Amino acid sequence: MSRDGGRKAPVPLFLTMMGVMEAFAGPVRHVYIHVPFCTARCDYCDFEAEPVGAAGPAEPAVAALFERYVAAVGAEWERERAACDVRRVASLYLGGGTPALLGPARLERIVAGFDGHLTPRAEMTVETNPDEADAAFAAWAATRGVRVSLGVQSFDPMLRAALGRRPAADPAAATRRLRTAGVRDLSIDLMHGIPGQTTSDLDADLGMVDDLAPDHVSWYELDVSAGTPLARRLRGGHGPRPPARAGEDERAAQHRHVVSGLECRGYRWYEVSNFARPGRQARHNVAYWRARPYLGLGPGAVSTVGRRRWRNAPGAAAYGEALAADRLPHRHVETLDATTLARERLMLAARCGLAVPIDEVAAAIDAAALAPLGAAGLLSLHSGTIRVTRKGRYVANEVCVRLFRA
Ligand code: SF4
Repeated sequence: MSRDGGRKAPVPLFLTMMGVMEAFAGPVRHVYIHVPFCTARCDYCDFEAEPVGAAGPAEPAVAALFERYVAAVGAEWERERAACDVRRVASLYLGGGTPALLGPARLERIVAGFDGHLTPRAEMTVETNPDEADAAFAAWAATRGVRVSLGVQSFDPMLRAALGRRPAADPAAATRRLRTAGVRDLSIDLMHGIPGQTTSDLDADLGMVDDLAPDHVSWYELDVSAGTPLARRLRGGHGPRPPARAGEDERAAQHRHVVSGLECRGYRWYEVSNFARPGRQARHNVAYWRARPYLGLGPGAVSTVGRRRWRNAPGAAAYGEALAADRLPHRHVETLDATTLARERLMLAARCGLAVPIDEVAAAIDAAALAPLGAAGLLSLHSGTIRVTRKGRYVANEVCVRLFRA
């Protein structure tokens, strides 16, 4: 699952409570496929992304890498299907990277490997950047009934340039092209906290949401990770120095502005960074936030099934070679202890405002923190459950840090 998660307002009843004993337990119904390829690395990117150059698969070596990758994903899926308790898959998510860079024929080969293993109403999502959302991709996505997640970040080209964002195509034109082709479920990614971004810039992006009417919006705060070119430029290192970035309080105010702006446009805030028209929540991410077991396929992908979590080593070439030789890719495997499970369950629930029974997470929390957090309006205690309030959701991570037993 790409980036930080996030969604919101009236939380559906089926989401309202889940015990930690159930976390990541049961059959697997959710599959994430990591497609690590991008044409070039954006200046703020610290994801598992492998730049392949502007020519993409028109370059024979890149086309060969893509072919090996597609075959390897199919092989890993078959191996995991045999090894894990995989039932009908309710959600399949191709994230990256830029999955659409593979092109419709390779995407179809990946997705076809799941035919016969999906529920009738399974959600299938493919991420793309505007550059790759061409007519051929749009036609394939519409025909396949794929939910498309489009990486926009900002409709303002100056702000995209401040981010060092590589995709050059007009994101509004790409959105319209997807709609015209018949894509019925469309999500866009936007950001606040971009260097130089003002409240009027946020209003301009909210205006584009009005114009384009996506079904779902993921609106994240820019995370400037140490070691990225953007972090170096902000410190005055090599390259054009971007405009100053808003401070922490101002970025928190930007988040509140985004939440109220989207809510008054009819989007429900159902996770810290995610908003949806009624009935259009991303079911794949909801499953993740409910701590359902999931398989991750591809280089760098993470899986969590029961108490076992494993992460494939990054690197598409080594991944393809291993599976071509009928071996699993190199993996880091860990066993999650009860405290880790409880903490993760609480953190995921906090982001969505879900209630968690106190007695099932008692070992992970500091009981003395409950009353002050409740008095501050950040936490509600009701019928033996704790729930992070709407006020607390703005600072969900801080609430959890205060809640956790040292
Ligand atoms: S498109 Fe996304 S994954 Fe690719 S380099 Fe840019 S930020 Fe990273």
